[in-house]
Parts: sequence; structure tokens; C-alpha cells
Amino acid sequence: MDVSEQLQLVPRKAQMLRGWNLHESADLMESLAVEVEKLRRPQCVWTHDEDYEQYTTSCGSSWSFIDDGIAENGVKFCPHCGGEVKEDAKAAGEDADDA
Ligand SMILES: [Zn+2]
Repeated sequence: MDVSEQLQLVPRKAQMLRGWNLHESADLMESLAVEVEKLRRPQCVWTHDEDYEQYTTSCGSSWSFIDDGIAENGVKFCPHCGGEVKEDAKAAGEDADDA
């Protein structure tokens, strides 16, 4: 028996040893990939709106804090879209008085 013949037996042996159905394994991998994709959240850019003391979110909504901003309030994810919150770089630059 040469190597390629032995290799052809590997899936069957694995199936016998572990009780795996190879088609089920493929389905499992596919559903895992879907779950991983769900975990890979989009980013939501929040732009500070000085006039209204709130943030405009890139998902088309807004959010305001009683005190301070995104980092000070420990906000990591957008309550509207679930995306990872990124403060707009320009807005963050304006607010450099606490450095
Ligand atoms: Zn959002």
C-alpha cells in the first residue's frame, strides 16, 4: 500500500475511530465560521457634537453622557448597532485639555 492509498483511508479511519460523520464535520466548521463572523463586530465612529453635548454615531443615531466622554465612561460598544466604538480622531484632538 503506497502513501496515497493510506491517505485515502485516513478519513474513513477517523470516522471509525471518533464516530465522525465527515459531512457533519463540514457543517460544523461552516456554522463555526458563521459564529466567528458574528463575533467580528463592525466599528461605529462617534463624532462629538459640541452644540448638543452628544455624540453622533456612524450607524445613524446619537448618544450622550451625563459626564465626560466615551473613554471616561468605559464605553466600548455602540448601544445601537453593537459595533466597536471609535471616537472620531478630529473630535478627540479637540478635547486635549486633560493631557
Ligand atoms: Zn453604532
